[in-house]
Order: sequence, then structure tokens, then C-alpha cells
Amino acid sequence: MNILVINCGSSSLKFQLINAGTEDVLAKGLCERIGIDGRLVYQPAGGEKEVTEAAMPGHKEAIQMVLDALKNPNTGVIKSLDEVGAVGHRVVHGGEKFASSVILTDEVVKGIEECSELAPLHNPANLIGITACKELMPSTPMVGVFDTAFHQTMPEEAYLYGLPYEYYEKYKVRRYGFHGTSHSYVSKRVAAFLGKDYENLKTIVCHLGNGSSLSAVKNGKCMDTSMGLTPLEGLVMGTRSGDIDPAIMEFIAKKENLDIAGVMNVLNKKSGVFGLSKDLSSDFRDLETAQEEGNTFAANARKVFVYRVAKYIGAYVAAMNGVDAIAFTAGVGENDHLVREEVCKYLGYLGITLDPEANKKRGQEIRISTPDSKVAVLIIPTNEELAIARETMALVQKEK
Ligand code: AMP
Repeated sequence: MNILVINCGSSSLKFQLINAGTEDVLAKGLCERIGIDGRLVYQPAGGEKEVTEAAMPGHKEAIQMVLDALKNPNTGVIKSLDEVGAVGHRVVHGGEKFASSVILTDEVVKGIEECSELAPLHNPANLIGITACKELMPSTPMVGVFDTAFHQTMPEEAYLYGLPYEYYEKYKVRRYGFHGTSHSYVSKRVAAFLGKDYENLKTIVCHLGNGSSLSAVKNGKCMDTSMGLTPLEGLVMGTRSGDIDPAIMEFIAKKENLDIAGVMNVLNKKSGVFGLSKDLSSDFRDLETAQEEGNTFAANARKVFVYRVAKYIGAYVAAMNGVDAIAFTAGVGENDHLVREEVCKYLGYLGITLDPEANKKRGQEIRISTPDSKVAVLIIPTNEELAIARETMALVQKEK
């Protein structure tokens, strides 16, 4: 069975068609500038990238173009839509309602709408994609896979904030966590790679990309994660501040004459390594080049980023009373050997020693700690699309 995986944003849409049996990607691409002008990038497996500029007034037109590209007699990979057995949709926020993936019935869609308050930028876009797909493929089963679901196993002490309890009761203000599909996929791959039982392993997953988060996964369950009610909490990120003293918000608002939206804009878009490097870049490649050229702001931005990761690892070792494996994943985690090396320099107390040669490898699952290291340190490339396809396949088969 082929699964179409859709990740829908407000003006963009990424897709992959995956053969669920072989797990091969048959075609992938993205629609950009939906509602503005429109651009489809389509690439069949082993083929060239095709770029088509065409009007995409809305997501329905964008998805129609994707389906047409998949069926195109020359570069398409299927003959008819009957060859798409199901569609898996990434949904950002499932609140407390969705602790696992679900078939997208009308009732579930209503539930996702109710969670929109918690992710006002993301859930409505995800819903637009779901609605458009349902209209174009009314008899194809659709599954929602939530970024928050994997973290729903966190215990109360990890997800409650030190705020009036009624805010949790009335508004569901609590830690939810994000990147859950990645944390789930990577933590499972760690167990498989090490030949260990997932249900009997303590793993820390470091998802370090433009957005970054850590998770503590004990015996197959997420015990804690660094993002919170929103993806702003936790690590220092590309442009997000991560943890700060909340009183800074009032202080900066007064000094800079900003309202709440203005302060939030600074914390989300102008902070992180971008802000620390004096607006040089949020991309670690740029920061490293600048650091080599003697830019001390870029060097400090990287230092602050690394230190925060190391600090969270320490916290999660405490939360799980130990750790067996630490995995690096996502753009920075998979590609940046300097960040991995610098993080691991803080972890000597855990008996971790890094193999410098292995640490320079990229693009594969690999152990980068020495054989005598007390904790296994790994690179595990994440694959959220494959994880969504697997979840979708499992649910559709269960329903049959
Ligand atoms: P992601 O959000 O997972 O797509 O990660 C994107 C980020 O990964 C980019 O902004 C870069 O900071 C980082 N990145 C990608 N490739 C490299 C690389 N070769 N070296 C260092 N950082 C990289």
C-alpha cells in the first residue's frame, strides 16, 4: 500500500508518497507560496526535480496539483489515485485529547479544531490540508499524527507548571512538547540499533535543528521534554530564546516600548543564536564560518546553545536516574560534528568518551562513542515522514 504523507503549513505543503511495504519514497516535493502565486517542486525517486509555477489560490488547488503530478504519465509514479491507500497528515497540536495517532473522522477533526487555541498558527493550516484532501479523495482513509502525542506519557511533575492550578483546569496550560514524531522514531531506532529492549532502556534524544528540543525516554515512555505549552520553551534555538526569566518580558516591554505581540515576536523570531550573534544568522554553518573568522558573537552564540543542551541532558539524567544512550538528530544534530563534540565535552562525568573519527560521519545511523564509553552516543537521522507513514499504515490495517 502507498501512503501519501502531508505536512501542511499556512502557505506551504510538503508531501511524500511512500510504499508502506518497502518503505521506499516513490516521490516527494512541496508546494510553496499557496495563496500568493504558487510553485510546485516535484521529484520522483531517482528522477530530476521539476519546478512548476502555477496559480495556487488555496490548499485544495495545491493538493490537486500534487495528485496530478503523482499521476503524470511521464514523470508520475502511480496510474490512478486508487494506488494511494491512505493519507497521513502531520498535526501539530493534539492537546490532551490525542495521545496517539487517529483516523480522521468528523468528530476527530472537531477535536483538532478545539486544539487550535493552543497552536493558532499551525493547527488551522493542518486542518485546511485535511479538509482539502478529504474533498479530493473522499473514500481514502486519512490519519492524523500529532507532534504532541508521544509526550502525553509525561508524569504530572514534568508537565505541570508552577502556576495557579486553575489555569491548568480552565485553560489546559501545561507542558505538551513538540517534535514528538521525531522523538518517538529516534528513540525506537536507538533501541533497534543497539539491539536492546525499547521497554527497558533510558534514552535522551537531542533533536537539534532550527527548532530544537530534548526528550527523556524511559522504558518506551516519554518522561520529560524541553518544549512546553508552545515550542518557545527549552533550548536556545535558531531564532527562539528558549528558557528565560519570565520577568524579562515586562522589563523589555517597558525599555523598548513593546506590547505583548512585540515581545513575543522578539522571543520567537529575533532571539536564539540569531539574536546572540547580533543578527548574523540562525544557521550553524554561517556561525561556524564566522567563528573561524574570529567573530566572538557567533562563537558565544554557539557556546550558549551547546551549554543549554548539556544542562538539559544533566537534568534528564536526573529525571530518569541514569541514561543508557544519547542520540543526536535533525539538521544540527545530524550534521554538525563540532556541536556534538562540544556537548559531549560536558559529559565526562557520565563516563562518555567520543570516537572523533566516527563523530565526523554524516547521513547514517552510527555510534560515535568509543566501545568503552559508559553511555552509548549515537547519530540517528530522523525521518518524520516515514514515521507518519508507519503510524498511518498501522492504523488503517487495524481498522480493516
Ligand atoms: P532542521 O530544522 O532539522 O531542518 O535543521 C536546519 C538547521 O540545520 C539549519 O538551520 C542549520 O543550522 C543546520 N545544518 C544543516 N546542515 C548543517 C551542516 N552541514 N552543518 C551544520 N549545521 C547544519
